[in-house]
Amino acid sequence: MTDESLEAGRDFIRDIVAADLASGKHKSVVTRFPPEPNGYLHLGHAKSICLNFGIAEEFGGRCNLRFDDTNPTKEEQEYIDAIQRDVRWLGFDWGTGLHYASDYFEQLYAWAQDLIRAAKAYVDDQSQEEIRLARGTLTEPGRNSAFRDRPVDENLDLFARMRAGEFPNGARVLRAKIDMASGNINLRDPVLYRILHAHHPRTGTAWNIYPSYDFAHGQSDSIEHITHSICTLEFEDHRPLYDWFLDNLPVPSRPHQYEFARLNLTHTLLSKRVLTELVRGGHVSGWDDPRMPTLAGLQRRGVPAAALREFVKRIGVAKANSTVDIGMFDFAVRETLNKSAPRRMAVLRPLKVVIENYPEGTSEELEAVNHPDDPSQGTRRIRFGRELYIEQDDFMENPPKKFFRLSPGNEVRLRYAYFITCRDVVKNAAGEVVELRCTYDPATKGGNAPDGRKVKATMHWVSAADAVPAEIRLYNHLFATAQPDAANFASQLNPQSLEILVGSMVEPALAGDNAEDAVQFERQGYFCRDKDSSPGRLVFNRTVGLRDTWAKVAATG
Ligand code: ATP
Ligand code: MG
Repeated sequence: MTDESLEAGRDFIRDIVAADLASGKHKSVVTRFPPEPNGYLHLGHAKSICLNFGIAEEFGGRCNLRFDDTNPTKEEQEYIDAIQRDVRWLGFDWGTGLHYASDYFEQLYAWAQDLIRAAKAYVDDQSQEEIRLARGTLTEPGRNSAFRDRPVDENLDLFARMRAGEFPNGARVLRAKIDMASGNINLRDPVLYRILHAHHPRTGTAWNIYPSYDFAHGQSDSIEHITHSICTLEFEDHRPLYDWFLDNLPVPSRPHQYEFARLNLTHTLLSKRVLTELVRGGHVSGWDDPRMPTLAGLQRRGVPAAALREFVKRIGVAKANSTVDIGMFDFAVRETLNKSAPRRMAVLRPLKVVIENYPEGTSEELEAVNHPDDPSQGTRRIRFGRELYIEQDDFMENPPKKFFRLSPGNEVRLRYAYFITCRDVVKNAAGEVVELRCTYDPATKGGNAPDGRKVKATMHWVSAADAVPAEIRLYNHLFATAQPDAANFASQLNPQSLEILVGSMVEPALAGDNAEDAVQFERQGYFCRDKDSSPGRLVFNRTVGLRDTWAKVAATG
């Protein structure tokens, strides 16, 4: 990528599209996002979605959503529905361009017959294992199948009977007749159709044979007049086969495949196989568990779609694989939320404070701003009274030198309220501090002393009289290791990925806020209300903390 194209928000694929439009090779651009409905979409897919839909938007073209539903044993309607929901949530619209590879099964079958008639495909009776053994290696050529020169009529007959369901699974396959000595193993007579007696979410039991990914993909692109077929690098070696089908079949258009680097993230595994096993194995609560890198999980966690789009924009599109630090993702989330999220006060681990010189049985209302940089968000009233809660962490009985928050004899500011000084501590039988006895200075109302004296700490708090109890769920990386290994992922799960706080206290405005909106708990981070909330029960998810604490924990670890 050149500096110039970086500046323009450009990448090598956008450069190609721009050039093809400028040269007149294409009048308009048509892309597609082609998920297999065998799981929920994840952050990696978000990169592909933003690229495909983004290019269509930027260049005035179209982008289709096409389900690559050629493997009925793994595909489900639940996934088809979830994928559509998630693409829309991310902010993209396929208009009338909703397609399924299964819509083309009849055409693909006819094209397979064309290949047979042209002596470019044959029915092979070898087992899968025999085919694999005869395929050769990177250094050795493969061996021709004994069925390779089967007469055309026999091939047509057998292929029709495969379709009709006469043979059991695995009995035969249809293969392209290309070159068993090719340096590219994908060209060594690849399998085009396999027998599979399985129920398909869309075609039911109409078919007993299903096309391979390779036989379906390029032809589907061609049928939809896709101009730029964008996929990840692992398909680079498949491109010669993609082209071979287009060259050898009477297809209606000539798409071109381009490959880009897939997204990898530290502390994360972006593989549907692993994500499926996390769900099925009960390691997480479901596809939308807020620790999951799925779009459904991120949405539930409170990540705005705009933050995802911004993140994808920043990582760019390259030709070489690399791994992005998850901290970059958190940064984009924080930045996006900082601009809009209203500020609230919530005490995660409460410690009771009694203001001894505040008149009993009374209280007052103070004014708090909803957003320090956005006056249009206005202010709200918060109640102050004799009994409050502060954060346990904000008090130390025997503080070290640099601890400026509350300690015996020390004065601090309570945000939007008064200066208070700690006079005494109350302990339980176990010797733990359970209550602080403090005094306040009525002259410091609003948080400033008329005599100009300063305090070194400003703390958040809630009033005990009207605070609302809440459950707060704190999330950390699902995988403790930065580069988890997909092969034995279960052993690398972070045992501290979820911490549930049950006795938190939040200001009453939070019970009335729109449940959809993210909020900032002052000094704590960004939070959103979880769907487990119900009338009388408030549950919050921490979307992201205010600062990156992970790096520090790992370093001292
Ligand atoms: P997985 O590797 O998670 O099983 P997949 O490639 O099998 O994913 P598909 O449903 O086939 O999943 O993917 C749809 C599209 O999303 C493909 O074009 C694929 O290249 C792209 N894609 C999948 N994973 C990533 C990723 N990590 N980064 C970028 N694009 C991705
Ligand atoms: Mg795939």
